[in-house]
Amino acid sequence: MIPQPYGGRLVNRLVGHGARDGMDDYASLPSIQLTLDESYDAEKIGIGAYSPLEGFSSEAEFESITSGTKLENGLPWSMPVVLAPSGRRNTETVESLRAGDTVLLNDHLGSPLALLHLSGKYALRKDRFAEQVYGTKDTKHPNVEEIHNMGTTALGGSIDLLRRLDSPFLKYELTPEESREQFSRKGWKNVAAYQARNPPHLAHEYIQRITLERDDVDGLFIQPVVGKLKKGDYKPEVIMEAYDAFVSRYYREESVLLGSLSISMRYAGPKAVLFYAIVRRNYGCSHYIVGRDQAGVGSYYDPYAGHRVFDEFDVGVTPIRYNETFYCSDCKGMTSTKVCPHPESSRVNTSQTRIRRILAEGGEIPHEIIRPEVASILARGNVIIE
Ligand SMILES: [Zn+2]
Repeated sequence: MIPQPYGGRLVNRLVGHGARDGMDDYASLPSIQLTLDESYDAEKIGIGAYSPLEGFSSEAEFESITSGTKLENGLPWSMPVVLAPSGRRNTETVESLRAGDTVLLNDHLGSPLALLHLSGKYALRKDRFAEQVYGTKDTKHPNVEEIHNMGTTALGGSIDLLRRLDSPFLKYELTPEESREQFSRKGWKNVAAYQARNPPHLAHEYIQRITLERDDVDGLFIQPVVGKLKKGDYKPEVIMEAYDAFVSRYYREESVLLGSLSISMRYAGPKAVLFYAIVRRNYGCSHYIVGRDQAGVGSYYDPYAGHRVFDEFDVGVTPIRYNETFYCSDCKGMTSTKVCPHPESSRVNTSQTRIRRILAEGGEIPHEIIRPEVASILARGNVIIE
Protein backbone atom coordinates (compact mmCIF):
# COMPACT_ATOMS: atom_id res chain seq x y z
CA MET A 1 0.00 0.00 0.00
CA ILE A 2 1.16 3.52 -0.68
CA PRO A 3 2.14 4.60 2.83
CA GLN A 4 0.42 7.34 4.75
CA PRO A 5 2.40 10.59 4.84
CA TYR A 6 4.78 10.86 7.79
CA GLY A 7 2.76 11.79 10.86
CA GLY A 8 -0.46 10.65 9.16
CA ARG A 9 -1.49 13.70 7.14
CA LEU A 10 -0.07 15.40 4.07
CA VAL A 11 0.55 19.04 4.88
CA ASN A 12 -0.73 21.46 2.26
CA ARG A 13 0.01 25.12 3.01
CA LEU A 14 -0.21 26.26 -0.62
CA VAL A 15 -2.82 28.99 -0.33
CA GLY A 16 -2.10 30.91 -3.54
CA HIS A 17 -1.96 34.64 -4.01
CA GLY A 18 -5.72 35.12 -3.83
CA ALA A 19 -5.80 34.28 -0.14
CA ARG A 20 -4.37 37.68 0.71
CA ASP A 21 -6.12 39.81 -1.92
CA GLY A 22 -3.17 40.23 -4.25
CA MET A 23 0.15 41.97 -4.03
CA ASP A 24 -0.91 45.28 -2.46
CA ASP A 25 -1.73 43.63 0.78
CA TYR A 26 1.87 42.49 1.25
CA ALA A 27 3.32 45.99 1.05
CA SER A 28 2.38 46.73 4.65
CA LEU A 29 4.08 43.59 5.97
CA PRO A 30 7.65 43.37 7.22
CA SER A 31 9.62 41.33 4.72
CA ILE A 32 12.58 38.97 4.73
CA GLN A 33 14.68 38.13 1.70
CA LEU A 34 15.28 34.38 1.59
CA THR A 35 18.35 32.66 0.21
CA LEU A 36 17.90 30.03 -2.48
CA ASP A 37 18.15 27.24 0.14
CA GLU A 38 15.51 28.87 2.32
CA SER A 39 13.25 29.39 -0.69
CA TYR A 40 13.48 25.68 -1.47
CA ASP A 41 12.66 24.82 2.14
CA ALA A 42 9.68 27.18 2.29
CA GLU A 43 8.29 25.62 -0.86
CA LYS A 44 8.83 22.05 0.34
CA ILE A 45 7.11 22.80 3.65
CA GLY A 46 4.20 24.32 1.75
CA ILE A 47 3.67 21.35 -0.58
CA GLY A 48 3.99 18.81 2.24
CA ALA A 49 7.36 17.29 1.32
CA TYR A 50 8.42 17.82 4.95
CA SER A 51 5.12 16.67 6.51
CA PRO A 52 4.28 16.90 9.37
CA LEU A 53 6.28 20.17 9.55
CA GLU A 54 4.08 23.18 8.84
CA GLY A 55 6.79 25.77 9.12
CA PHE A 56 10.34 26.63 10.08
CA SER A 57 11.62 25.08 13.31
CA SER A 58 10.72 26.81 16.56
CA GLU A 59 13.21 26.86 19.41
CA ALA A 60 11.48 23.93 21.13
CA GLU A 61 11.54 21.93 17.89
CA PHE A 62 15.19 22.80 17.27
CA GLU A 63 16.07 21.62 20.79
CA SER A 64 14.04 18.43 20.44
CA ILE A 65 15.63 17.50 17.11
CA THR A 66 19.19 18.34 18.07
CA SER A 67 19.00 16.72 21.51
CA GLY A 68 16.93 13.63 20.76
CA THR A 69 16.58 13.26 16.96
CA LYS A 70 12.83 13.63 17.31
CA LEU A 71 10.00 16.13 16.98
CA GLU A 72 8.20 17.37 20.07
CA ASN A 73 5.49 14.74 19.47
CA GLY A 74 8.12 12.00 19.63
CA LEU A 75 8.34 11.17 15.91
CA PRO A 76 11.93 10.55 14.78
CA TRP A 77 13.28 13.55 12.87
CA SER A 78 16.91 14.27 12.16
CA MET A 79 17.28 17.76 10.68
CA PRO A 80 15.77 21.04 11.89
CA VAL A 81 14.57 23.31 9.08
CA VAL A 82 16.06 26.58 10.21
CA LEU A 83 15.33 30.10 9.02
CA ALA A 84 18.04 32.43 10.34
CA PRO A 85 18.21 35.35 7.91
CA SER A 86 21.51 37.15 7.48
CA GLY A 87 22.49 40.43 5.84
CA ARG A 88 22.01 43.95 7.18
CA ARG A 89 18.46 44.56 5.96
CA ASN A 90 17.20 41.19 7.10
CA THR A 91 18.90 41.59 10.47
CA GLU A 92 17.22 44.96 11.05
CA THR A 93 13.85 43.46 10.16
CA VAL A 94 14.42 40.45 12.39
CA GLU A 95 15.22 42.76 15.33
CA SER A 96 11.91 44.57 14.91
CA LEU A 97 9.78 41.41 14.72
CA ARG A 98 7.58 40.16 17.56
CA ALA A 99 5.87 36.81 18.09
CA GLY A 100 2.48 36.91 16.38
CA ASP A 101 3.70 39.04 13.47
CA THR A 102 2.99 37.98 9.89
CA VAL A 103 6.12 38.29 7.79
CA LEU A 104 6.38 38.28 4.00
CA LEU A 105 9.08 35.89 2.75
CA ASN A 106 10.46 36.93 -0.62
CA ASP A 107 12.27 34.30 -2.66
CA HIS A 108 15.96 34.61 -3.59
CA LEU A 109 14.98 36.78 -6.57
CA GLY A 110 12.89 39.14 -4.43
CA SER A 111 9.38 38.00 -5.35
CA PRO A 112 6.74 37.18 -2.71
CA LEU A 113 6.83 33.44 -1.99
CA ALA A 114 5.31 32.78 1.42
CA LEU A 115 3.96 34.27 4.62
CA LEU A 116 5.52 33.35 7.95
CA HIS A 117 3.34 33.38 11.05
CA LEU A 118 6.04 34.08 13.57
CA SER A 119 5.68 31.98 16.71
CA GLY A 120 8.96 33.16 18.20
CA LYS A 121 12.59 34.16 17.72
CA TYR A 122 15.61 32.46 19.26
CA ALA A 123 19.38 32.65 19.30
CA LEU A 124 20.59 29.99 16.87
CA ARG A 125 22.96 27.57 18.57
CA LYS A 126 25.23 27.10 15.58
CA ASP A 127 27.79 24.80 17.20
CA ARG A 128 25.05 22.57 18.48
CA PHE A 129 23.37 22.53 15.06
CA ALA A 130 26.65 21.61 13.35
CA GLU A 131 27.74 19.00 15.88
CA GLN A 132 24.42 17.27 16.45
CA VAL A 133 23.30 17.16 12.82
CA TYR A 134 26.54 17.10 10.84
CA GLY A 135 28.74 15.54 13.52
CA THR A 136 31.44 18.18 13.18
CA LYS A 137 32.17 21.86 13.78
CA ASP A 138 34.68 21.88 10.92
CA THR A 139 33.81 24.76 8.59
CA LYS A 140 35.45 22.88 5.71
CA HIS A 141 32.25 20.82 5.74
CA PRO A 142 30.00 22.56 3.16
CA ASN A 143 26.86 22.59 5.32
CA VAL A 144 28.74 23.64 8.46
CA GLU A 145 30.16 26.55 6.50
CA GLU A 146 26.57 27.51 5.58
CA ILE A 147 25.47 27.34 9.22
CA HIS A 148 28.39 29.60 10.05
CA ASN A 149 27.11 32.13 7.48
CA MET A 150 23.52 32.10 8.77
CA GLY A 151 22.14 34.91 10.91
CA THR A 152 22.39 34.69 14.69
CA THR A 153 18.61 34.82 15.29
CA ALA A 154 16.27 32.15 13.98
CA LEU A 155 12.58 32.61 13.21
CA GLY A 156 10.08 29.86 13.97
CA GLY A 157 6.52 29.55 12.78
CA SER A 158 4.13 28.08 10.27
CA ILE A 159 4.03 29.33 6.71
CA ASP A 160 1.49 29.82 3.97
CA LEU A 161 2.94 29.26 0.52
CA LEU A 162 1.76 31.78 -2.07
CA ARG A 163 3.04 29.93 -5.15
CA ARG A 164 5.39 27.25 -6.41
CA LEU A 165 8.96 28.28 -7.15
CA ASP A 166 10.01 28.75 -10.75
CA SER A 167 12.18 25.88 -11.87
CA PRO A 168 13.83 24.72 -15.09
CA PHE A 169 12.70 21.23 -14.03
CA LEU A 170 9.04 22.02 -13.52
CA LYS A 171 7.81 18.90 -15.31
CA TYR A 172 9.81 16.79 -12.84
CA GLU A 173 9.06 18.87 -9.74
CA LEU A 174 6.04 16.88 -8.63
CA THR A 175 4.33 17.67 -5.36
CA PRO A 176 3.84 14.73 -2.99
CA GLU A 177 0.18 14.82 -3.92
CA GLU A 178 1.05 14.54 -7.64
CA SER A 179 3.56 11.71 -7.22
CA ARG A 180 1.04 9.78 -5.11
CA GLU A 181 -1.54 10.24 -7.88
CA GLN A 182 0.91 8.99 -10.50
CA PHE A 183 1.82 5.95 -8.41
CA SER A 184 -1.88 5.10 -8.07
CA ARG A 185 -2.50 5.57 -11.77
CA LYS A 186 0.33 3.14 -12.54
CA GLY A 187 -1.14 0.67 -10.07
CA TRP A 188 1.94 0.82 -7.84
CA LYS A 189 1.49 0.00 -4.17
CA ASN A 190 5.09 -0.46 -3.10
CA VAL A 191 7.43 2.11 -4.53
CA ALA A 192 11.17 2.28 -3.94
CA ALA A 193 12.77 5.71 -3.84
CA TYR A 194 16.15 6.27 -5.42
CA GLN A 195 18.03 9.33 -4.19
CA ALA A 196 20.61 10.68 -6.65
CA ARG A 197 22.99 13.57 -6.99
CA ASN A 198 25.03 12.30 -9.92
CA PRO A 199 24.33 11.36 -13.55
CA PRO A 200 23.64 7.61 -13.68
CA HIS A 201 26.47 5.18 -14.22
CA LEU A 202 26.21 1.41 -14.39
CA ALA A 203 26.74 0.81 -10.68
CA HIS A 204 23.68 3.00 -9.98
CA GLU A 205 21.77 1.24 -12.72
CA TYR A 206 22.64 -2.17 -11.28
CA ILE A 207 21.14 -1.20 -7.91
CA GLN A 208 18.03 0.17 -9.62
CA ARG A 209 17.58 -2.98 -11.68
CA ILE A 210 17.97 -5.45 -8.82
CA THR A 211 15.53 -3.34 -6.82
CA LEU A 212 13.01 -3.54 -9.67
CA GLU A 213 13.43 -7.33 -9.75
CA ARG A 214 12.22 -7.64 -6.15
CA ASP A 215 8.70 -8.99 -5.85
CA ASP A 216 7.92 -6.56 -3.01
CA VAL A 217 8.56 -3.54 -5.26
CA ASP A 218 6.12 -2.42 -7.98
CA GLY A 219 7.91 0.68 -9.18
CA LEU A 220 10.94 2.86 -8.80
CA PHE A 221 10.79 6.62 -8.20
CA ILE A 222 14.12 8.15 -9.18
CA GLN A 223 14.29 11.61 -7.67
CA PRO A 224 17.64 13.38 -8.04
CA VAL A 225 18.37 16.35 -5.80
CA VAL A 226 18.55 19.37 -8.09
CA GLY A 227 18.79 22.12 -5.51
CA LYS A 228 22.00 23.72 -4.45
CA LEU A 229 24.86 21.26 -4.67
CA LYS A 230 28.49 21.91 -3.83
CA LYS A 231 31.54 22.84 -5.85
CA GLY A 232 32.79 19.82 -7.76
CA ASP A 233 29.31 18.23 -8.06
CA TYR A 234 27.58 17.89 -11.41
CA LYS A 235 25.27 20.71 -12.45
CA PRO A 236 21.62 19.87 -11.76
CA GLU A 237 20.61 20.42 -15.41
CA VAL A 238 23.25 17.89 -16.45
CA ILE A 239 22.01 15.33 -13.91
CA MET A 240 18.43 15.70 -15.16
CA GLU A 241 19.32 15.63 -18.85
CA ALA A 242 21.41 12.50 -18.29
CA TYR A 243 18.68 10.80 -16.27
CA ASP A 244 16.03 11.73 -18.81
CA ALA A 245 18.07 10.24 -21.67
CA PHE A 246 18.87 7.15 -19.62
CA VAL A 247 15.42 6.42 -18.18
CA SER A 248 13.61 6.84 -21.51
CA ARG A 249 16.06 4.51 -23.28
CA TYR A 250 16.57 1.76 -20.70
CA TYR A 251 13.47 1.50 -18.47
CA ARG A 252 9.80 0.68 -18.94
CA GLU A 253 7.43 3.52 -18.28
CA GLU A 254 5.28 1.07 -16.29
CA SER A 255 8.11 0.52 -13.81
CA VAL A 256 10.06 3.75 -13.41
CA LEU A 257 9.10 7.36 -12.79
CA LEU A 258 11.62 10.19 -12.94
CA GLY A 259 11.11 13.21 -10.69
CA SER A 260 13.35 15.83 -9.15
CA LEU A 261 13.71 17.31 -5.70
CA SER A 262 14.87 20.92 -5.47
CA ILE A 263 16.32 21.21 -2.00
CA SER A 264 19.81 22.07 -0.92
CA MET A 265 21.83 18.92 -0.48
CA ARG A 266 22.42 17.94 3.15
CA TYR A 267 25.72 16.10 3.37
CA ALA A 268 24.99 14.76 6.84
CA GLY A 269 25.58 11.05 6.24
CA PRO A 270 23.14 8.97 8.34
CA LYS A 271 21.08 11.94 9.56
CA ALA A 272 20.56 13.04 5.96
CA VAL A 273 19.66 9.50 4.93
CA LEU A 274 16.91 9.46 7.55
CA PHE A 275 15.65 12.88 6.44
CA TYR A 276 15.61 11.90 2.75
CA ALA A 277 13.77 8.67 3.57
CA ILE A 278 11.07 10.60 5.45
CA VAL A 279 10.73 13.06 2.56
CA ARG A 280 10.33 10.17 0.09
CA ARG A 281 7.68 8.58 2.29
CA ASN A 282 5.77 11.83 1.95
CA TYR A 283 6.09 11.49 -1.82
CA GLY A 284 4.43 8.06 -1.45
CA CYS A 285 7.41 5.69 -1.34
CA SER A 286 7.31 2.57 0.85
CA HIS A 287 10.97 1.61 0.31
CA TYR A 288 14.17 3.59 0.30
CA ILE A 289 17.41 2.55 -1.39
CA VAL A 290 20.61 3.15 0.57
CA GLY A 291 23.94 2.46 -1.06
CA ARG A 292 27.41 2.99 0.29
CA ASP A 293 28.24 6.42 1.74
CA GLN A 294 24.95 8.05 0.79
CA ALA A 295 24.84 11.79 1.49
CA GLY A 296 28.46 11.66 2.59
CA VAL A 297 31.16 14.20 1.94
CA GLY A 298 34.91 13.85 2.48
CA SER A 299 35.52 11.26 5.18
CA TYR A 300 33.20 12.67 7.84
CA TYR A 301 30.94 9.59 8.01
CA ASP A 302 31.26 5.83 8.18
CA PRO A 303 30.13 4.73 4.67
CA TYR A 304 27.66 2.25 6.18
CA ALA A 305 26.24 4.43 8.97
CA GLY A 306 23.38 5.21 6.56
CA HIS A 307 22.49 1.50 6.60
CA ARG A 308 22.46 1.26 10.38
CA VAL A 309 20.44 4.41 11.02
CA PHE A 310 17.28 2.47 10.12
CA ASP A 311 17.98 -0.01 12.96
CA GLU A 312 17.90 2.87 15.40
CA PHE A 313 14.96 4.87 14.00
CA ASP A 314 11.74 3.57 12.48
CA VAL A 315 10.29 6.10 10.05
CA GLY A 316 7.87 3.71 8.38
CA VAL A 317 10.00 3.19 5.29
CA THR A 318 11.66 -0.13 4.45
CA PRO A 319 15.34 0.42 3.70
CA ILE A 320 16.88 -1.54 0.83
CA ARG A 321 20.56 -1.58 1.69
CA TYR A 322 23.34 -2.25 -0.81
CA ASN A 323 27.05 -2.73 -0.39
CA GLU A 324 29.51 -1.11 -2.75
CA THR A 325 28.76 -2.09 -6.36
CA PHE A 326 31.17 -2.12 -9.30
CA TYR A 327 32.03 -3.76 -12.62
CA CYS A 328 34.27 -6.78 -12.11
CA SER A 329 36.39 -7.85 -15.08
CA ASP A 330 36.53 -11.43 -13.75
CA CYS A 331 32.78 -11.70 -13.08
CA LYS A 332 32.32 -9.87 -16.41
CA GLY A 333 29.45 -7.85 -15.06
CA MET A 334 28.18 -5.57 -12.32
CA THR A 335 28.48 -7.05 -8.86
CA SER A 336 29.13 -6.02 -5.27
CA THR A 337 31.41 -6.67 -2.31
CA LYS A 338 28.68 -9.00 -1.02
CA VAL A 339 28.94 -11.31 -4.04
CA CYS A 340 32.21 -10.98 -5.93
CA PRO A 341 35.18 -13.07 -4.67
CA HIS A 342 37.81 -11.41 -6.88
CA PRO A 343 40.60 -9.09 -5.81
CA GLU A 344 40.09 -5.34 -5.80
CA SER A 345 42.37 -5.07 -8.82
CA SER A 346 39.65 -6.75 -10.93
CA ARG A 347 37.17 -3.98 -10.17
CA VAL A 348 36.67 -1.22 -12.69
CA ASN A 349 36.59 1.96 -10.71
CA THR A 350 33.28 3.74 -11.32
CA SER A 351 33.88 6.59 -8.91
CA GLN A 352 32.75 10.03 -9.96
CA THR A 353 36.28 11.21 -9.24
CA ARG A 354 37.60 8.88 -11.91
CA ILE A 355 34.85 9.78 -14.39
CA ARG A 356 35.55 13.48 -13.87
CA ARG A 357 39.25 12.92 -14.37
CA ILE A 358 38.67 11.08 -17.66
CA LEU A 359 36.39 13.93 -18.77
CA ALA A 360 38.90 16.57 -17.75
CA GLU A 361 41.59 14.83 -19.78
CA GLY A 362 39.28 14.60 -22.78
CA GLY A 363 39.29 10.80 -22.70
CA GLU A 364 36.46 8.42 -23.44
CA ILE A 365 34.52 6.90 -20.56
CA PRO A 366 34.53 3.08 -20.81
CA HIS A 367 31.13 1.64 -21.67
CA GLU A 368 31.45 -0.80 -18.75
CA ILE A 369 30.82 2.09 -16.42
CA ILE A 370 28.53 4.49 -18.25
CA ARG A 371 25.89 4.29 -20.98
CA PRO A 372 26.84 6.00 -24.28
CA GLU A 373 23.76 8.28 -24.08
CA VAL A 374 24.98 9.57 -20.71
CA ALA A 375 28.64 9.63 -21.72
CA SER A 376 27.92 11.89 -24.69
CA ILE A 377 26.13 14.39 -22.46
CA LEU A 378 29.04 14.48 -20.02
CA ALA A 379 31.60 14.70 -22.82
CA ARG A 380 30.15 18.06 -23.93
CA GLY A 381 32.06 19.70 -21.09
CA ASN A 382 31.01 22.45 -18.66
CA VAL A 383 29.12 19.89 -16.58
CA ILE A 384 30.72 20.47 -13.15
CA ILE A 385 29.95 23.23 -10.64
CA GLU A 386 33.09 25.38 -10.44
ZN1 LIG B 1 34.25 -10.53 -9.54
